[in-house]
Amino acid sequence: MKKFDLIVLGAGSGGVRAARLAAQQGLKVLVVEKRHWGGTCVNLGCVPKKLLVYASDYARSIHKSRDYGFKLDDYKTSMLDWQELSTKVVNETHRLQGIYKKLLGDNKVEMLNGTAGLSSPNTVMVDNEEFGADKILIATGSRPRVPEIPGSGLGITSDDMFSLPQLPKSISIVGAGYIGLEFACIMAGFGVQVNLLNRSEAFLRGFDKEVSDFALEQIAKNSNITIYTNSVVKQVEKKENTLDISIQNGDKSEQLVSEQLLFAAGRIANSDNLGLEDLGIVGDNGNLQVDDYYQSKVPSIYALGDVVGRRALTPVAIAEAKKFIAKHIVGDDKVELLDYQAIPMAVFSRPEIVMLGMSEEQAKEEHKVKVYKAKFNPLSEALREDKSPFFIKLVCDATDNKILGIHLSGSGAAEMIHGFVPLYMQQASKDDLDMAVGVHPTIMEEIFTLS
Ligand code: NAP
Repeated sequence: MKKFDLIVLGAGSGGVRAARLAAQQGLKVLVVEKRHWGGTCVNLGCVPKKLLVYASDYARSIHKSRDYGFKLDDYKTSMLDWQELSTKVVNETHRLQGIYKKLLGDNKVEMLNGTAGLSSPNTVMVDNEEFGADKILIATGSRPRVPEIPGSGLGITSDDMFSLPQLPKSISIVGAGYIGLEFACIMAGFGVQVNLLNRSEAFLRGFDKEVSDFALEQIAKNSNITIYTNSVVKQVEKKENTLDISIQNGDKSEQLVSEQLLFAAGRIANSDNLGLEDLGIVGDNGNLQVDDYYQSKVPSIYALGDVVGRRALTPVAIAEAKKFIAKHIVGDDKVELLDYQAIPMAVFSRPEIVMLGMSEEQAKEEHKVKVYKAKFNPLSEALREDKSPFFIKLVCDATDNKILGIHLSGSGAAEMIHGFVPLYMQQASKDDLDMAVGVHPTIMEEIFTLS
């Protein structure tokens, strides 16, 4: 049996980073990947999604440029060559797969395509071959959850959005979290009619309510998006080229017709079929249970990233991998814990919605809170008829003005938050922001003059 110091299951963002760093420490490392090198982020998530966001923004820019005096013929969806766009997006993911493999190869990490499972706490079966390891790191990620509804097999998930044979004329989307809102705005930008179905009144659970309400108000103004709250899908049936979607909206039953049905109803950890059932480390939603440094109660087994699910985000998996290496491979006993509260979260809807730290609701549970906010039209909107406002909200501790949360919604918000992360980590206060002078005319200069 071939033996390794470390076997990593899953070549996504977390697994690849951990494998590479371990190999750089001189360890003999094997990575096993079932599907795509680079994992969800590169192949079926962040990267191709963001490329579609850019594409959809080009469509919006064509509209917007008219308000600046450009004389354009009527923009039509047919101007978009979907085949060309989706082929280019998929080609880019293939290029990135190659880069991931090269990074591993250059660091002398062994790679194996196949389905892996543990045969004991120190052995891994890949198809029919067994490998031994001192340590096993599970970084197998997550997959979309498809609710159990009659006919749900007729729907698709975010995995399928990048290889649609054609751009649908209409799409119904189940779930109004990150993926639901992002794809609703992408598709609406392309001129697709979108039904966005949310099972409750609450959108984007965990985000600041006032900011998500602001964003939702803007999204609802989009004439291509119809929002259905308190609505659940009861049944889906195929009718020639469309789907009949029966929904229950409170006491009312309604029938929606659309070409596609996208389930964006959360994700499930990929922890099944890994031989972990009897080890007592699988928790709710299949998430693996590990300590602050990603070690399970079975000492040779570690896990990080979406399969653990502390924050199902690529930069989190990478940061966790770095902590795992520092603690368990380098052996540094002074590794600081990852500060999950200081990790910004961004939804690439239109407008973007960004959160760093606590929402007002969370902050009020622990602090006396003072809120500073501004809603305004950026200069870029001055000449536009259909203006897209921006919202800045600071949640501070009322006693010492320490910043507890920063919330932004509007164009470019996700890029803007980064500079505030170190400030937040250093427990800066609103008074620190007040001392700063911004650049004029910009959006973020407003954050230095909030009162
Ligand atoms: P999500 O953000 O957790 O949202 C899931 C949505 O589906 C919620 O509206 C939820 O409603 C609803 N839902 C759950 N179960 C349902 C059911 N059985 N029937 C109908 N609706 C249901 O999940 P997601 O959008 O699928 O994204 C998954 C994760 O991927 C995110 O949490 C995030 O960590 C990551 N992600 C990040 C980004 C980014 O960083 N920009 C982008 C995409 C994905 P309730 O609120 O009522 O539960």
